[in-house]
Amino acid sequence: MSPGRVFRILGKKIKPEWKAAFFACFSVGLLIHMPILLSDIPNHDGLASMYFDQNMVTSGRWFLTVACGISSYYTIPWVIGLLGLFYLSLAATALCELLEVRRTWAAALCGALLASFPALASTFAYVYTLDGYMMALLLAVLAVLFVKKYRRGFVPGAFCLAFSMGIYQSYLPFTMILSVFAVWMLFLKNVPGEGAERAWFMEKMRSALRYVYMGVLGAAFYYGILQILLKLQGKQLGDYQGIGEMASGAAAERGIPVIIMEPLRGGRLVNLLPKEAKKLFETDPLARTPAELAFRWLYDQPEVTCVLSGMNSMEMIAENVITAEKGTAGHFSKEDAALVEKVKEEIEKTVKVNCTGCGYCMPCPFGVDIPVTFRCYNEMYSETKSGARKEYLQCTAFRKNQSSASQCRQCGKCEQHCPQQIEIRKELKRAVKELETLPYRAARKGIQLFRLW
Ligand code: SF4
Ligand code: SF4
Repeated sequence: MSPGRVFRILGKKIKPEWKAAFFACFSVGLLIHMPILLSDIPNHDGLASMYFDQNMVTSGRWFLTVACGISSYYTIPWVIGLLGLFYLSLAATALCELLEVRRTWAAALCGALLASFPALASTFAYVYTLDGYMMALLLAVLAVLFVKKYRRGFVPGAFCLAFSMGIYQSYLPFTMILSVFAVWMLFLKNVPGEGAERAWFMEKMRSALRYVYMGVLGAAFYYGILQILLKLQGKQLGDYQGIGEMASGAAAERGIPVIIMEPLRGGRLVNLLPKEAKKLFETDPLARTPAELAFRWLYDQPEVTCVLSGMNSMEMIAENVITAEKGTAGHFSKEDAALVEKVKEEIEKTVKVNCTGCGYCMPCPFGVDIPVTFRCYNEMYSETKSGARKEYLQCTAFRKNQSSASQCRQCGKCEQHCPQQIEIRKELKRAVKELETLPYRAARKGIQLFRLW
């Protein structure tokens, strides 16, 4: 069969609205993004990526190197741009099929709108990686389209999603939004007459569940492939842009000031030290207080710009000013560092939850007193179990509005505000097991029943 005949057959099979979406997207995209394609002015990342193999498996983007390698690893804006526009136009076509856009003018409008969507301008600004990201966009649309079109489409859909996430994980939310839209369209169709609603609803739910299967399976494929590649390459997953190294000097190297919040952990490093740690401080030949040593340890770190500490009296202000005046980077002796290390080990032995009691997680919509729970839970290990349980009973049950940890409904609101990034929900469950014993629960019920408070 001659190539001409093949094209003629293909031409007949391709729906007019597909062609409209494809060509509108490609031509509008070409017009709008022409300045970048002809004379890219690289941004900061672009300057450092004129030749870049895009092997970013440590960022979880294991397919990026393949996706961007098709156009070579050199930044050639017009090659990358044309390829990117090709993927984008295919995505526009798939999107029209997914959204059942049947009119040619509407499909052309969809294509043009997609090409001129403002967020795309920023993707085009990162020319060196543009074709990869456009391929990810296309795969994300195909993932949803497969589920919509075929009964078992969630399997190829999952593969598309996994590879899309392998290019850039941010395409997961895009796929989710498209899936929600597809489910919504599903429920708007063929609304049944009276009496057939239940069967209709069950049928729709079964179809809707396939989108969930695609998402779960896709995420599992993505994760599995990522782990295998990390193992093969002998690498570990890194943190984004080295954010985890902020306190270890990376921030200072980049000229970002490092400001220390809660240097004494809400006073706990002074007032609630375990006995063994207090004894260790007493061995300091210069008889410095725990607060002074804590501040000095911070001032010794060259990257620390400012230490924010709450002060309640003139004495505290005076002491902190003197410490700050003397505290310079590198002034800590080896003996000082060893003392602090030993104290840290002692504290870690007794602390179950790293809570400072700052209260930023409060109020809990279900009334849980989170800081009190963690304080009592820690006291079980630093002091006595019976004393901690008694205090917990007094602080949470003997109240008009009881505030026990078992009231937690796992909503997760508190975790968004915790500066220590404590997994509050998980820790509360552990605390409940140890603090809310049978006598506690009986006493709590009794207080409720007889309205003692
Ligand atoms: S997760 Fe639990 S403790 Fe946290 S805000 Fe929600 S209900 Fe309250
Ligand atoms: S759980 Fe976090 S936010 Fe809440 S009091 Fe403790 S440290 Fe502060």
